[in-house]
Amino acid sequence: MIAELLGTGAGLLGCAGYFSARYAWWRSAVDWSAPRVLMYHMVSPHRPRTRFNKLRVTPELFEKQLSWLKERDFKFVFASQLFDAEPLPQRSVCLTFDDGFADNLRNADPLLEKFNACATLYLVVERDGGWSSKKKAHHGDDELADEPKLSDEQVAAMVASGRWELGGHSITHANLATIDDETAQNEIANSRIELESRFGIAPATFAYPFGIYEQRHVKMVEEAGFRGAMTTEPGIEPLPYADPQQVPRIKVSGKEGPYAFSMRMRGGKRGLLK
Ligand SMILES: [Zn+2]
Repeated sequence: MIAELLGTGAGLLGCAGYFSARYAWWRSAVDWSAPRVLMYHMVSPHRPRTRFNKLRVTPELFEKQLSWLKERDFKFVFASQLFDAEPLPQRSVCLTFDDGFADNLRNADPLLEKFNACATLYLVVERDGGWSSKKKAHHGDDELADEPKLSDEQVAAMVASGRWELGGHSITHANLATIDDETAQNEIANSRIELESRFGIAPATFAYPFGIYEQRHVKMVEEAGFRGAMTTEPGIEPLPYADPQQVPRIKVSGKEGPYAFSMRMRGGKRGLLK
């Protein structure tokens, strides 16, 4: 009996430990004057037996997240506003979507409209035929390459709605670390030129494809005229950014529920466990 009780106690402690490590509830909230920059990819139902469901936030979950933000009086801002001289309100939140998946219009946009929210889309210029979803080319499956992408017409309509702002995300979703400097320069600078020529507005910000870059790319991004750039490093930073070309974001995972979302909004990072 005693042994059983001890066992249960140990089990409970184990659970509590796991819970702490996973959700980092013990981490104190980063000051709410620091804007929360959220990183999304797709808003769509999960596809069974696929690898990238963490990049698929279901429409139901996305709606819950927007509702959570509204209830707490968060103000939605575009990424470009993070780099303006004008101060942002307390509890600013910037929703970012990487790549240009078709579900951003089909599933995310109606919810943005419902909640009077806005988002910044880091759009790959050449989306036809898909790009490698892999950091390394030798991976066989093309799960993300096969996902439908937005057409230029759809992107133009999104921009015209006033709910979406565009940001650069390279021409081909290149892994910058594996290409020579001239090619990297083209990928970065031409993405800005190309988005401006197609959609009429030069994007103010950039996001590094795969979150992979080296210091020389930071300089290229700046020289291309981008005022700021997003990484995939987890975190929340106060304004003005110490390094505007390396801004951390909060990853929103399709595999985590509302509680994990609220914890990430507080502290920016996951707990100790992946
Ligand atoms: Zn990307």
